[in-house]
Order: sequence, then structure tokens, then C-alpha cells
Amino acid sequence: MKTNTALFERAQRVIPGGVNSPVRAFRAVGGTPRFIARAQGAHLWDAEGTRYIDYVGSWGPMILGHGHPAVLDAVQQAATRGLSFGAPTEAEIELAEAIIALVPSVEQVRLVSSGTEAAMSAIRLARGATGRSKLIKFEGCYHGHADALLVKAGSGLATFGHPTSAGVPPEVVQHTLVLAYNHLAQLEAAFAEHGRELACVMIEPIAGNMNFVRTQLPYMKRLRELCTQHGALLVFDEVMTGFRVALGGAQSLYAKAIPGFAPDISVFGKVIGGGMPLAAFGTSRDIMRQLAPLGPVYQAGTLSGNPVATACGLATLREIAKPGFFAALAAKTQALVDGMCGAARDAGIAFSADCEGGMFGFFFAEQLPQHYGAVMATDAARFARFFHGMLERGVYLAPALYEAGFVSAAHDDADIAATVAATRETFRV
Ligand SMILES: *Cc1c(COP(=O)(O)O)cnc(C)c1O
Repeated sequence: MKTNTALFERAQRVIPGGVNSPVRAFRAVGGTPRFIARAQGAHLWDAEGTRYIDYVGSWGPMILGHGHPAVLDAVQQAATRGLSFGAPTEAEIELAEAIIALVPSVEQVRLVSSGTEAAMSAIRLARGATGRSKLIKFEGCYHGHADALLVKAGSGLATFGHPTSAGVPPEVVQHTLVLAYNHLAQLEAAFAEHGRELACVMIEPIAGNMNFVRTQLPYMKRLRELCTQHGALLVFDEVMTGFRVALGGAQSLYAKAIPGFAPDISVFGKVIGGGMPLAAFGTSRDIMRQLAPLGPVYQAGTLSGNPVATACGLATLREIAKPGFFAALAAKTQALVDGMCGAARDAGIAFSADCEGGMFGFFFAEQLPQHYGAVMATDAARFARFFHGMLERGVYLAPALYEAGFVSAAHDDADIAATVAATRETFRV
């Protein structure tokens, strides 16, 4: 039998750190990554045949669970017709129409292959459309690894304690201002000083790369006002939250709470690909006119709108748009979070948790953190112990305290109950 340890050793000989994306290496929690052999529904099996309840879901895309029959069927049929053409297809129109139908702020989309590419292209579009260079991002928000955005990004980077990455010249990030999340005075000051030079403000509307941190409503309202007043574009990075916290993404939640609210540009990924490499950015027709081939802002991709990925994304969106889908998913996620909080209360452990739709976060802290510094001040040693305790009991959580968790439609009551029971046991030892 192949063991995780043997595979990890072999992987490290030919792949840096043994992984193709840093957080998979378990550096934040220690130990050996599980090499996944297969998955079905809410479950993963590693190379040793051990089964886990999966709360990573490929970091968000697997909202239907693994191996959903409608999705598999769509992918198989698309693959039979051809893997890639480098020419337009009807499926791309259908996916664009599906996204636009669900997100009122978006009139046109461009499909790309990763969230990184979508966020990078959205910034270029914002700069091209405004003729301005500066942008604001927030500490702990991750927008993929484009150079200009690799400043105090959360997630994988936080593990290594780099506020930024080597290999990014200072000149490349000189136009990127980094502010603390939910810090109103800083925001006001940044706009007072740089407002007229700002192309855009990019934000995770519920931050999922510093675990799970909501934007406070008055803060979001003021951010919208400031952007409008100064002619800066508000870019919502909904790569994680889009089609995950609600059918219309996090922006639908803010629109409900703040009359007339909408971002200017939206960035999507993860769920819209259903597990295949697919992402998108979209905005008004007016701004999209700046994009090649119509306008001067260049953007392209050999595999953009790939027919197999597009079929996978479209099949996924059709399932989650069915009536009652999000209510059921949200109820499951809430049950999980309530169960974990109850276990912590009974064990007398400082713990807090939050969720929206099929996304959740928990902290070893009495109160929910509001910004990156507070997230990183939560108990990391306790988190690592908890992570391994859960893993030993067959629950696969994100292997770092600054990552959000995900529940899928395939998680059933038994999975949630088993997870809560594992939490109770882990808290006991
Ligand atoms: C995952 C993520 C990205 C990057 O997407 P990739 O497909 O990994 O390049 C960008 N923004 C947010 C908010 C994300 O969660």
C-alpha cells in the first residue's frame, strides 16, 4: 500500500515542498499532508484508504459535493465533443448568461481560467477604464498571486510570515495601498489623501482568506460612498463568496441591507467552475467596452472559456439555482457551527464561529475577529492540536487557522452529527 508519508517524500523530490499550492503542505499545522485518491459526495479517501468528511471542498468549488451525477454527465459529454477549440462556443454564452442572470450588477463577463487571472485582469480593466494607477486592498484579503496584489495577502502567505513575496520588485507594488479591514478612519484618510488617484478598491466582501471575517455594514456603506465620490471603482472579489454565501454572492446580502448597493466590478472563480479551472470578471457594458477586442485594455487566454470547464460550471450553477438549495445548505452549515460552539461551551473553551450560506469560520477566541491582526492573534497552537484531533477522527478541515471552511449539499445530517461528535471528543483530550 502507498502511504501518505511515502508519497510526500516522493513528491518533495520532484515538486517544491511536495505540493502545487503552498497551504496543501500542512506547514501551518505540521504533519503529513493526505494524498487524496478519490472523493464522492461529502467524503474524501486518502492513499491509505482512510475516509474523511471534507470541509475544504477543493477550497470552495465543490458546493454540490464530489461526483455529482449531473455535473459528471455534463463534463463527460463535453469532453466527448472536444477538449478545447480556441474558438467561441455556445456554452460560453450560456455560462455568461447564467452568471448575469444571478448577479444584477454584472452586464457582461469575460471568462478566464483562475481567480488569480480574473483579479489581475479586473485591476487592469479598472486602471484602464479610469486612467488611474493606485489601488487599495486590505490586509488579510487574498486576490490570487498577481504581483501587484501580493501585498499583505492572507492565506498561504501568512504561514511564511512574508508580508509580501520575494521576486516582486517594490516598484510593482508602489501603487498598492494596504489598509486594515473594517478600519473606517484609515479608509477615510486614504481617500482624503489619494482619492483622486485611485483606480479601484478591491475587497473580499466577506473575507475568507483570513478565516471568516464580515465587512461591517456601515463600513461597506461608507466604502461605496467614498468610491462613488472619488470616481474609484469598487471591485468585489467574490472568487470565494460568489455563488457560495448566497446565490447572488455576498453582494446580494449587502444589497439587501444597503438600499441601492452594488459593486462596480465583480470577480468570480471557485464555484463557477464546479471544480474545473474557470473564473470570470464582469461589470457594466460600458466599462467592459474598454476590454480587447473592443477597447485598449488587453486580456486573453488560450484556454479561456474551455468547453469542459464551462460545461462543469454551467451544470453546477443550474443545480445551485434550484429553489430551496441555499436555504438547505445554510441550515446545514448553521447546524455544524452551532454544534461546534455547543461543544466548545461545554468544554469551557474560548471559541467563536460564524457562517453564511455554505461558508463558515471558527476561531479559538472569545469574540469574532474583525481584521487580520485579530485573526492572527487567535490561539494557533490550539488550532493545530484541534486540526489534528479532527483529522484523526476522520474530519478534514482546512489546515490553517486563516482559511474558511465549506459545507456542500452532499453533507448529510449524519456527517454533521459525526463532525460535532468528533469536535466534542477532540475538545475532551
Ligand atoms: C481562491 C481565491 C483567489 C485566487 O483564485 P485561484 O483560482 O486560486 O487563482 C482570488 N480571490 C479570492 C477571494 C480567493 O479566495
